[in-house]
Amino acid sequence: MYGLKGKKAIVTGGAYGIGKSIAARLLAEGCDVGIFDLDGAAADATARELGAAGRIVCASGDVSDKAAVENGIGALMAALGPIDILVNNAGICRVGKLLDMSDADWQATFGINVDGLFHVTRKVAPQMVERRGGAIVNIASWMGKSGAAAYGAYCASKFAVVAMTQSLACEIGEFGVRVNAVGPGLIVDTKMRDESEAQRKAEGLPSAHDRAQGIPLRRPGYPDDIARAVLFLASDEAAFITGETISVTGGLWND
Ligand code: NAP
Repeated sequence: MYGLKGKKAIVTGGAYGIGKSIAARLLAEGCDVGIFDLDGAAADATARELGAAGRIVCASGDVSDKAAVENGIGALMAALGPIDILVNNAGICRVGKLLDMSDADWQATFGINVDGLFHVTRKVAPQMVERRGGAIVNIASWMGKSGAAAYGAYCASKFAVVAMTQSLACEIGEFGVRVNAVGPGLIVDTKMRDESEAQRKAEGLPSAHDRAQGIPLRRPGYPDDIARAVLFLASDEAAFITGETISVTGGLWND
């Protein structure tokens, strides 16, 4: 459908949630896929689960650790050959007010959401530039467009993802490499969402499904909603789109 057959793709944080759905969609399109995830056992299990649909390889490591990226992403590149599509999806969300949150939570948020994207992109993109082609899709957030109480670190890190998307698009567009982002809204059925829902439930706050009744499309998003937008941006259907962050939120912004 998207003309991606035979393309080689890497997805970070591909063991769970949105990353897993992106990997599944890419496989269904006929791509060879590499997933890189912190949790090696989960990455193996996902590779086994999705393996019937196509060629999937995995490596484990922490995107915030430059040496681990060098080794793990390097191993995926060696196994797959030249990479056509990079999806920077790995991310964390630590809830806490800016004046209260620990230094460790602030640093982990930026280490993974920002430095991680920086390390992985600097490992994969030069080869795309050299080969004069490729597509990078970063997973930002609807919180990368506006600040929110108790999400200051996360919002700031996702604003950074949007800025890095625009800047890199300016830098490497002339070499035929496009760089875009998807800004998911309230997405359920992911590990991150399950964890934050458990916390909200304990605090007596409304669930994601309840909150979604207030958005125009009256439902939460699912990982596959994000995966379809990623595939569009990765494909030649988006050949004249670069530097954009597309919101996939069910109209959360029109609320
Ligand atoms: P998820 O289910 O927790 O998936 C995140 C994946 O990233 C997990 O497999 C996780 O592995 C991996 N990961 C975390 N830290 C990593 C690290 N340092 N190095 C390598 N891999 C790492 O969460 P998700 O909801 O699918 O989130 C995916 C992306 O969407 C994130 O960038 C997130 O910010 C963004 N997003 C999500 C929502 C939402 O509502 N769910 C909304 C907006 C944006 P482990 O499980 O081992 O930690």
